[in-house]
Amino acid sequence: MPGRIRNFLTVDVEEWFHICGVGGPLAPEHWPALPSRVEFTTDLTLELLARRCVTATFFVLGWVAERHPRLVQRVVAAGHEVASHGWSHRRVYEMDEASFEADLQRAGVAIEAAGAPTPEGFRAPEWSINDRSLWALDVLARHGFRYDSSMSPLRLVGNPTYPQVPYCRHTAGGDLLELPPLVARRFGQQYPLGGGWGLRMSQATTVVKEIEARNRRGAPVTLFIHPWELDPSPPRMTLPWARQFSHYFRLRGFADRLDRVLGSVEFQAIGPWAAAGSCP
Ligand SMILES: [Zn+2]
Repeated sequence: MPGRIRNFLTVDVEEWFHICGVGGPLAPEHWPALPSRVEFTTDLTLELLARRCVTATFFVLGWVAERHPRLVQRVVAAGHEVASHGWSHRRVYEMDEASFEADLQRAGVAIEAAGAPTPEGFRAPEWSINDRSLWALDVLARHGFRYDSSMSPLRLVGNPTYPQVPYCRHTAGGDLLELPPLVARRFGQQYPLGGGWGLRMSQATTVVKEIEARNRRGAPVTLFIHPWELDPSPPRMTLPWARQFSHYFRLRGFADRLDRVLGSVEFQAIGPWAAAGSCP
């Protein structure tokens, strides 16, 4: 519909076991031996988007791109944008600048080798660009990234004072567009309505109402999903309580709720939008 604001749908392409801060049987040294679900679940995501004629940005983990190049090719062939989720799924603030840069470059090499264009956008694992790691924005701009979507306006992973609409960050390395995830208020607290447990627990009508309210104020919103959230039989692991909640809470019926959201408001990939606009 002409004149309607188009929102951003983003997909973090990773395995069900790519969970920050969890060791034991899910520690990185065990990843190669764990059962892979990412091809199956990303294909489910692609089917869902194709049914709704939605184009999205897929932030692909370099570790996945290296092992599943054909999956990256299917994402590109379906008309979606491929962006970077880093290589190792480590939190940015746990790395120093040199290791972050190396991780970013390794991911870029893997994504391009798989057949996608050079990524122009970045999403940090677990929203880990925050006040502890603002230097990472300089690195991204220096490496030619046009936009970032790694800074959450939530206290737990980011900072509630961060803007809730797309905005411009001026860094030493150049300008970057920053796209925060949708957050909303409930019981006096901000919560992640745009993805994770917040999106999974919400009725489609609640999500759509909030998106439409933001759009009426002239702002697009950013939603984020993970292919593993659409897995009809996800592998179960016992995790620390908070991880258990954020990973497994209300997976049942999520694909249907998401489908209704995708059918009710307009979405697009970030790349073309970021290319058309520039920082003031
Ligand atoms: Zn991730």
